[in-house]
Amino acid sequence: ESLEQGLSKTKESVFKKLSRAVVGKSKVDDEVLDNLEEVLITSDVGVDTTLKIIRRIEERVDRDKYLGVDELNGILKEEIAALLEENNTEDVADFDLPQRTEPYVIMVVGVNGVGKTTTIGKLAWNFKQAGKKVVLGAADTFRAAAIDQLQIWAERVDVPIVRQNMGSDPASVAYDTLTSAKASGADVVIIDTAGRLHNKINLMNELAKIKKVMQKVVPDAPNEVLLILDGSTGQNAFEQAKQFTLATEVTALALTKLDGTAKGGVVIGISDQFKVPVKYIGIGEKMEDLQIFRRKEFVDSLFS
Ligand code: GDP
Repeated sequence: ESLEQGLSKTKESVFKKLSRAVVGKSKVDDEVLDNLEEVLITSDVGVDTTLKIIRRIEERVDRDKYLGVDELNGILKEEIAALLEENNTEDVADFDLPQRTEPYVIMVVGVNGVGKTTTIGKLAWNFKQAGKKVVLGAADTFRAAAIDQLQIWAERVDVPIVRQNMGSDPASVAYDTLTSAKASGADVVIIDTAGRLHNKINLMNELAKIKKVMQKVVPDAPNEVLLILDGSTGQNAFEQAKQFTLATEVTALALTKLDGTAKGGVVIGISDQFKVPVKYIGIGEKMEDLQIFRRKEFVDSLFS
């Protein structure tokens, strides 16, 4: 799917709400701003980020004295683009990785059902397409299905996977994976972890242990801690981002399932509130349906 198609539900919904927000109006006044606030909040941008955007537009109204409602779309686009720019580091160009002798280690975290396995499979495919040697590690040993699903993706993409039995120590699987990856000269290792949030202390300890053990093989591992969030869950995704950023140092986000939802505004609020760059977005179930998040393209697709 193209980005435009992938985001079409969100776009349609935002567009419809925006048209309603300005109906019968020619200039942006307090009432229009109130309506706009509601549009953004109901589009899952989140309250804090919405207020920030509204304040910026208010400042522009004050400064320019007059803003026509026909300009609102363009202004919203500019302000959201500026906000995303402030909060994200630079967009990555492609599925390339830093040059290094040791494998680049990506540890993937997130609760079950958000699309963690699928995203790992898609990442593996993309890195392989980019000429990288990939190894997967099935360190979500809590559920047999998680190991099997990852195995299916490994076969589909045709990359090696390191696994042990269900119930084995996740840190031990991670250790084996890194050892094997290093021995075979792999460029990138993607480690799946269990996503149990019900016990924060357990989660923290488990992730810390996996990290520590991985560092025995690759001293600076993990090079990326990628949190997967289901974009279609709106406020739940905010809550999960909060819990995981408290439990471990998350360095990048992937937002999945944006194709099936009108809640794509969640990308804007989450990147603003957690100051962690959104790196990937999922817009479908197939391997090709993971895209690198590019701020400008994203905003253009929503407000074109
Ligand atoms: P996990 O439990 O977090 O590992 O979740 P899975 O990777 O098994 O995904 C759960 C479901 O979401 C599966 O049916 C996937 O095909 C689906 N899924 C994952 N990512 C996307 C996406 O970007 N778009 C859509 N439409 N479905 C997705």
